[in-house]
Amino acid sequence: MLYINGEWCESNSGENIEVYNPATGELVGLAAKGGELEAERAIQAASEAYLSWKKTTAKEHYMYIKRAADLLRERTDEIASIITKEMGKPLSEAKGEMNLAIDYLDWYAEEGKRIYGDTIPASAPNKRIVILRQPIGVVGAITPWNFPIAMLTRKIAPALAAGCTVVLKAASATPLTAIEVFKAFHDAGLPKGVINLVNGSAQEIVGTMMASPKVRKITFTGSTEVGKELIRQSANTMKKVSMELGGHAPFIIFEDADLEKAVEGAILSKFRNAGQTCVCTNRIYVQKSIEKQFASLMAEKVKDLVVGNGMQSGVSVGPMIDKKAMEKAQEHIDDAFQKGATVLCGGTQLNEEEYVNGNFFAPTILCNVTHKMKISYEETFGPVAPIFTFETEEEAIQLANNTEYGLASYMYTKDGSRMFRVGEALEYGIVGINDSLPTVAQAPFGGIKESGVGREGGKYGIEDYLEYKFLSFDLE
Ligand code: NAP
Repeated sequence: MLYINGEWCESNSGENIEVYNPATGELVGLAAKGGELEAERAIQAASEAYLSWKKTTAKEHYMYIKRAADLLRERTDEIASIITKEMGKPLSEAKGEMNLAIDYLDWYAEEGKRIYGDTIPASAPNKRIVILRQPIGVVGAITPWNFPIAMLTRKIAPALAAGCTVVLKAASATPLTAIEVFKAFHDAGLPKGVINLVNGSAQEIVGTMMASPKVRKITFTGSTEVGKELIRQSANTMKKVSMELGGHAPFIIFEDADLEKAVEGAILSKFRNAGQTCVCTNRIYVQKSIEKQFASLMAEKVKDLVVGNGMQSGVSVGPMIDKKAMEKAQEHIDDAFQKGATVLCGGTQLNEEEYVNGNFFAPTILCNVTHKMKISYEETFGPVAPIFTFETEEEAIQLANNTEYGLASYMYTKDGSRMFRVGEALEYGIVGINDSLPTVAQAPFGGIKESGVGREGGKYGIEDYLEYKFLSFDLE
């Protein structure tokens, strides 16, 4: 179903997206497949709704967002199982994502009450300067499949709190979860047209958003390649853009680190969501003196990870999203192997009987990895952990920063001065210090360099949905 102007509808063509479970290959459900016409209708609805939503009080914005958050909270179990069936992450992770998604709604429901302006001392006694913060207008939002609910609420919540209206296109792999978010807002009584959901052809829907002068802002989460293309397209109508793109996170372990904690952190960061997160570790840098110790401890623990259907209890790593994703992971492993890497564990997709219908890949650790290998500079987006070594702090920083990406990075050390020194030197939007899971609703999430533009989360995330207006008064 599509959700346009407060109504659930099918697409004009009657076509549907077929959603398959990556763990079983079974059909999970159908979702209406929209295109240009539906996107135009949704933009029109959002433009009309904007006229009243922008004037609605912060308290009313709060009440709608909070009500939707409460409904999602009540529906956590049901929606988490849709997430797991649609994209594979284990049920416990899906529930964790639900909590994060709801946190964004709770946070921005409140934050909307604190959109303050300024008064500034004027340059003449008869003049006054007042600065207003106003919503930017209709927002076009595009989201990926790997966090099918948190990426939606991280955009919808600040947009609504700022007084903007939204047209959202969710990833074609995960439209069913998106529908649940819109159901919650519908049931919360949100006025018609304030948020609209058009799933379907990316080319047509996003193309229509990009071309429309009515859409004043684009917020995109996805690959760097598509992000760059959208920035180019945004120039035609001079839209404000925020881009949450790919990453290539370094995970640095100094010899003074708590090794057990570092191994646990590396495993969580690397294998959560089967390695399909933008902030997941792509390069592990271990100080040479502890390389062997670290690698064998990590291999021991990785062998205990249970790969399987995320609906089964005890499963820690679910399937990858599709065959293409598995091929990329395999390509990175093969390339590294041919160039001299050794496979400490895993290394291939899993073909045993219980795995044959799904996209299961063995959690993999590679040693003797060099910076000539693809895995050292391309985002793998899969459960493959390459271990590099370094000798000095300076070298670790230099290697960690040697990438066009700049989203998340991690370091493990007990040295307080080093935490600051290295934390300040890492060219990343996020630095986890003895912390492999830093994302929270109240902090700014986002990258530098080719990992993106803008931030989502906390008081920073609402900025992207607001404009400043300068009122100058001459009182004479
Ligand atoms: P993707 O292929 O870029 O797709 C993301 C969204 O863009 C989907 O809704 C997709 O629609 C749409 N899209 C695809 N091609 C398009 C085009 N040519 N024009 C307009 N829209 C287009 O990325 P993905 O595979 O879903 O997600 C994985 C990537 O997202 C990784 O690189 C990951 O690092 C990044 N990511 C970043 C963050 C962050 O916060 N920085 C968070 C999560 C993921 P369809 O699904 O219909 O193709």
